[in-house]
Amino acid sequence: MSRFLSCAYAGLEAYTPGEQPRDKAYIKLNTNESPFPPSERVVQALNADEVRDLRLYPDPDCRILKEKLAEAYALKAENVFVSNGSDDILNFAFMAFAKDRGAAFPDISYGFYRVYAELHGAKYVTVPLDGQFRIQPEDYASMGRGLIAIANPNAPTGLALTLSQVESIVKSNPDSVVLIDEAYVDFGAESASGLVTKYDNLLVVHTYSKSASLAGARLGFALASRALIEDLERIKYSTNPYAINRLTLKAGVAVIEDAAYYRQNCRRITENRAYTIEALRELGFTVTDSMANFVFAKSDRIGGEALYRELRQRGILVRHFTAPRICEYNRITVGTRQDMEALVYAVRDILAK
Ligand code: PMP
Repeated sequence: MSRFLSCAYAGLEAYTPGEQPRDKAYIKLNTNESPFPPSERVVQALNADEVRDLRLYPDPDCRILKEKLAEAYALKAENVFVSNGSDDILNFAFMAFAKDRGAAFPDISYGFYRVYAELHGAKYVTVPLDGQFRIQPEDYASMGRGLIAIANPNAPTGLALTLSQVESIVKSNPDSVVLIDEAYVDFGAESASGLVTKYDNLLVVHTYSKSASLAGARLGFALASRALIEDLERIKYSTNPYAINRLTLKAGVAVIEDAAYYRQNCRRITENRAYTIEALRELGFTVTDSMANFVFAKSDRIGGEALYRELRQRGILVRHFTAPRICEYNRITVGTRQDMEALVYAVRDILAK
């Protein structure tokens, strides 16, 4: 830390992203990327003419992509916000809605909620998950906070709330923005996107990083009432209006035009998830009923960190967290069938040692 850093940030504990190692080729099951490439349409959209056009700034309003997204979700473009990854939206939402009136989120959830709350000096409460890692909607009734952030499905547990449970939280907090982070919703959970015209306090956040195979392009979007979208635009236009680059905007449109390809990928991932859950349970693991593109598992025959290390030595990367309630677990991204067979083979080998 330099002696120049503002004291507001001196105590900030930054988010630790999953490893992106360069030392050798791993089976990479640690950051919930898609094992499948973007569709051919995306490859064609990013052509030489588009590269030549990089001399020009991108459209700060992201008009074409917004209109496509609005059409896909039966909304208007004014209900859509586009950002440089969904982390950007989370950041803006904590800045816009939590800074003065505070935030609430589950004690075990996406680690960035705490970081953004601290970055913006927002007071926050964490609401404990129950003994089976479930979010209890009743715990969120009338929170009296500026922002309630819930990942659905939750990370790293993979457990999902039903749409009516989500609606009950939105309904019982009319004076709070309820942010439903649907980063993993395409793998089987119910989306709350259909409720944004009904509730002016609901902000649904999506990413292209998981089901749309574009983690490297950085693209996220939010669906909400016109007024909430205007608030997010105000923050975006006060920081970096050109945050989404031209190539990424093109890729985003191409994904929507190729929805069937991505639906098929999601189906393959959910099949591979079922295979992995069953195989790990047969090996004695406790595994949550994940609705996401990862499984969350612990063994009583080997500690969470030891398993992570043994897998790493065998060229398989998974994500281990150190928080006390979950340190015996690993979060394992669901890859191709071949990836998951290699994982199960390695786990069997480790347990047999
Ligand atoms: N929300 C959740 C729950 C996540 O797990 C992630 C991925 N780390 C994100 C948001 C952010 O995704 P991105 O910025 O790549 O859109």
